[in-house]
Amino acid sequence: MPSDPKEPAGPSFGLKSHGRLSIAASAGPRELMADLRVKGAWRVKIITLFPDAFPGTLGLSLTGKALETGLWTLEALDLRLYGEGKHRNVDDTPAGGGAGMVLRADVVGEALTDAAIGTSSDRSKWPVVYLSPRGKPFDQAMAQNWAAADGLTLLCGRFEGVDQRVLDEYAVQEVSLGDFVLTGGEIAAQALIDATVRLIPRVIGNHLSTDEESFSSGLLEFPQYTRPLVWKDRVIPETLLSGHHAHIADWRRDMAERLTKERRPDLWRAYLAAQGRDPIEDQEQ
Ligand code: SAH
Repeated sequence: MPSDPKEPAGPSFGLKSHGRLSIAASAGPRELMADLRVKGAWRVKIITLFPDAFPGTLGLSLTGKALETGLWTLEALDLRLYGEGKHRNVDDTPAGGGAGMVLRADVVGEALTDAAIGTSSDRSKWPVVYLSPRGKPFDQAMAQNWAAADGLTLLCGRFEGVDQRVLDEYAVQEVSLGDFVLTGGEIAAQALIDATVRLIPRVIGNHLSTDEESFSSGLLEFPQYTRPLVWKDRVIPETLLSGHHAHIADWRRDMAERLTKERRPDLWRAYLAAQGRDPIEDQEQ
């Protein structure tokens, strides 16, 4: 069991809490879940075989500070503790044969039931997500929706993934970090949480910095520079040093458009369409 005396512990209760969630371990599991709510905080619950992976990098810098000050809370539920029998088995061989192991529906189901305690059953207020290469690709719009929800439950897979029936039964949405295969969902979960938490009000001091960055306007961000003015014979573009705000804004928009057009034709087409501009005409320029 967790060695930190502040952490709640119980023989069949796989909870590891962080930030303001560290509370007296005297209450029973169900009460604990209720007590864990920090008023107004955005909450994330993670079902994982590796609870020690959390908060990981989320415990650092801005997300870490926000966790400490209670702007968001993190609960890692140890899937192993829901396992079957003496060895707490969580997986079995795939039906139909083939390589690897599959996480069992009954085991994952129990963890999802526990994770649902104290959360809304309305999936728009509390999305329940399985990290999966087959899922919808994660993007900034999804992070914005999640940040506006009360919280989020993330299920991290391992091995060959989870039994399909548990995803169907619990209306679990599948979300992917990208077109590649990781060994487990934990790194993907941290990436998704990081992108979401930084959109919660007050996590990043200067709001403008999230308004202007890549994707929020439909464009990739313009290049950034800072001191020294000259480095290895490379200079900072003159416009940025002019102090002329309108010219700087024009330069930045121009660069953002150019980069997006070059690197991400998909985003560029969507951007033009949103502005009512004709992609063919823009092509000819
Ligand atoms: N057999 C599966 C891959 C399993 S990888 C397939 O071919 O689709 C093991 C676990 O890692 C998955 O259950 C998932 O939770 C996680 N994972 C792997 N790649 C991922 C990705 N691109 N995005 C999110 N999660 C991923």
